[in-house]
Amino acid sequence: MSNDRLRDMDKHILGEIWTSQAAYDNLQYMCDDIGHRFAGSPLEHQAAEFLADRMRAYGLENVRLEEFPMASWERGECSLQLTAPVQQEISAIALPYCPSADFEAEVVDVGEGEIPDFERLSDRISGKIVFTDAETNKPGERKSHRIDKFNWAVERGARAIVYMNQNPGLLRITGSIPGTVARSSKGEDREAPIPGLGISFEAGKALRRLAKKGTPKLRINTTNRTYDSKSYNVIGEIVGTEKPDEVILLGGHYDGHDVAQGAGDDGAGTIVGVEAGRALAGLKGKLKRTVRVICFGAEEVGLLGAWHHAAEHKDSNFRYVMNLDGAGRGSGGSEQMTVSLMPELADYFEKLGRELPYTFIVKDELNSHSDHFPFAVRGIPNGTLNSSDSTAGMIGRGWGHTEADTFDKIDPRGLQMSAILCARLAVRLSEDEAYPGQNYSVAQVEEQLSTAGILDRQKQAGNFPPA
Ligand SMILES: [Zn+2]
Repeated sequence: MSNDRLRDMDKHILGEIWTSQAAYDNLQYMCDDIGHRFAGSPLEHQAAEFLADRMRAYGLENVRLEEFPMASWERGECSLQLTAPVQQEISAIALPYCPSADFEAEVVDVGEGEIPDFERLSDRISGKIVFTDAETNKPGERKSHRIDKFNWAVERGARAIVYMNQNPGLLRITGSIPGTVARSSKGEDREAPIPGLGISFEAGKALRRLAKKGTPKLRINTTNRTYDSKSYNVIGEIVGTEKPDEVILLGGHYDGHDVAQGAGDDGAGTIVGVEAGRALAGLKGKLKRTVRVICFGAEEVGLLGAWHHAAEHKDSNFRYVMNLDGAGRGSGGSEQMTVSLMPELADYFEKLGRELPYTFIVKDELNSHSDHFPFAVRGIPNGTLNSSDSTAGMIGRGWGHTEADTFDKIDPRGLQMSAILCARLAVRLSEDEAYPGQNYSVAQVEEQLSTAGILDRQKQAGNFPPA
């Protein structure tokens, strides 16, 4: 691969993205003009049309919507009342797929809600409302996920679960909870077996103070609807000239939570992918392999778009899948690529960082909670490019999964710098004959999942081995 050729492509990419406001404008339209884009809702469908229009306008090829059935959810009323040791109303929201409910029960506080906490309190959970911290990760940490805590509560007979946001600001935390049949497209099976609610940091702190005066009791009264719907992946390509069947897939998820604009999670990552596609469309006829930009639908409710695409194209030759969940946040310069326990790829991206030259962090660890995962279980080389929010001191998802995940948090330069890095990496993944990535066998993936400590859960969920 001639360095001059790559250098010319870099100049095109940098010039195109660095001098344009397109990414920022597109994200603003998705956040302000369209709105929340909850999976399966009319606003998500409107966003799909908008993204496809943008791709066509930018000259991407084979632009299409890839439809798949799924169950959506609509919130109704939600009230949470503390009935002991004192009476008071707590501001709460139902989490997506929360069933309707009306009952009162005692609270058992599992604190951080890691597995030792659940084990220690195991015989006290049945019939109670589990109260737990939402995600407690400080930057760089990876502690248990909301869905793990939900499953541990259900397994021990809890009647409901209430999550406390870990960041102050009176922000009630959201995040979907799994159904009796995890990814069922039928509303009745997709509804969660027990209610899940989110409350603010401040309300949680008060609840813990009051608990010292006597065992708290809560009354949950909520009305919600889980219903049959559909969602779409939005796809556009720059078709390769020499090996069009070898595909570099890149993209974020355009769906978001119904309480928020979903600017950082993951409007920004979606737009980073579309912006990289806009720049790469100018290289049409010059790339050896196909770059496919995808905007995944329905990530927040179970990675549904990614599961669908991975299954639908299971015989495709994906050279690399670059998930962009979390890309484009912050003010630029904090990008990181996390490959899924594939050390040869970690080495490769470190080498690319030196060659570009552009410093970005490379990590090698596997998690199951975003759109790279359905490809990871098939052994496809994959990773996630993201960047951190510039707001200091935030825990867990920061503004994500709250009403405050809004467009004002986004810096146009953060979008540009992620899009530039994404496009430059995509060019190398397309052109480089010395690229070391290759598919892992079922046995190797099994070992990766085991190393990551998630093998049993993935087998139980029917995610591995993939059908
Ligand atoms: Zn996300």
